[in-house]
Amino acid sequence: MTGADIHKGYRGPSLDILRKFDVKVWSEVSVTTTRGNFEGIILPRSETADDLHIVLKLDTGYNIGVTADTITGIEELGYRRAAYKIPEKDFPYDETRPNVKLFGTGGTIASRLDYRTGAVVPAFSPGELYGSVPELADICNLETEKLYGVFSENMGPEQWIGTARQIGKAIGEGVDGIVIGHGTDTMHHTAAALSFMVQNSPVPIVMVGSQRSSDRPSSDAALNLICATKVAGESDIAEVTVCMFGPTSDQYCLLHHGTRVRKMHSSSRSAFRTIGDVPIGKVSPDGIEPFRTDYRRRRDDKSVDINAVFEEKVSIVYYYPNMKPDIIDSLIDNGYRGIVIAGTGLGHVNKPLYPALEKAREKGVAVYMTVQTLWGYVQMYVYDTGRDIMGLGVIPAENMLPEVAYIKLGWALGQTTDLEEVRRIMLTPVADEITEREPHDGYLVFQAGVSWLTDHFHRVRR
Ligand code: ASP
Repeated sequence: MTGADIHKGYRGPSLDILRKFDVKVWSEVSVTTTRGNFEGIILPRSETADDLHIVLKLDTGYNIGVTADTITGIEELGYRRAAYKIPEKDFPYDETRPNVKLFGTGGTIASRLDYRTGAVVPAFSPGELYGSVPELADICNLETEKLYGVFSENMGPEQWIGTARQIGKAIGEGVDGIVIGHGTDTMHHTAAALSFMVQNSPVPIVMVGSQRSSDRPSSDAALNLICATKVAGESDIAEVTVCMFGPTSDQYCLLHHGTRVRKMHSSSRSAFRTIGDVPIGKVSPDGIEPFRTDYRRRRDDKSVDINAVFEEKVSIVYYYPNMKPDIIDSLIDNGYRGIVIAGTGLGHVNKPLYPALEKAREKGVAVYMTVQTLWGYVQMYVYDTGRDIMGLGVIPAENMLPEVAYIKLGWALGQTTDLEEVRRIMLTPVADEITEREPHDGYLVFQAGVSWLTDHFHRVRR
């Protein structure tokens, strides 16, 4: 290692401490501090992190930061340069098992820690996946293909279209199910895009991700992947779904409709929730328990409708009090063809925006209203202001989630310039993005880990 590497990332007080006790990155150490003693391996420090802590990987796998000025001694016990490469193994083939195709797009599920920056980097490799989750071989024969290697904020129309086409190809080749590994941040956008672009699938198409990378003991990657693969290989649920961690402990995943799901927590593993409805079911390594029966069923044929188009000149505007019309004006002036507004309450914006909305109508820009409350329907007949806004050509998008309406509008405008046809497409439900009613038990964020609730879902919905 070069001089810089032996203290990789450490600066200031933390570097002084390493030098003082003559230890380096990858030293196995016993650290004495005013708060107790710790044993572990000194990890490289992120270049962007503070200079006050030394990071240790404990035997439990957890990483801790030890404050430099609490350290009274460090004894070097050995040296163990970590190899963070998961062993690649050939996936075994068993002709009695279903054939599942796993497409990788990136995100934490395909990541390991990068000790240069301390951040998580995408590094999808099929063999690594099996090497780290061998249980997958008990479920299916898995073929993997890396489509992209990006964090999900970098997914967009090009990748949605590309993924939809690859799904079409895999179905034509006769796979029994598809899993898509994806970053969690925009998984609900991609799930919506695929729900519209891939219709009448004969097999399950299951999106999965993880909030914590697989080198961490608390990682949700393995459970999520096992559950998603189970749905893809074994279930008869032939829809675009999202399969992610359910309760707060490693018990089971929830399976969500691709258009009714949303990431609702930035860091919790239990981040994905069905909005305005009840999840399709729960999935554990032991099996799949649907909460409902109204899903599309698996078929034997290989036909599927792929309609992979997207108009990029579509935007979503999150209304805030005192928003000025220049926001809408600039979209119109920049040639946007569609705008989804996430309005307040039942679907409102302030009066100063009215002339801009009028202008949007005159210029042939399709404007749809959704609600910031996420739960509930746009209802623009209740107040005069709602009626006024509708009078300006703004169309209520029922109970479509704002992001879903954005995706659907891009998809609709990708198909036609005829605004009446766009309206027909927008308001005709394709994949439960608009439902006839929202059940009272669909108004819950706490959807898992409470046994009476799970029992209720079982009793009432089946
Ligand atoms: N930022 C990551 C992503 O969405 C987060 C994750 O994968 O969980 O790609």
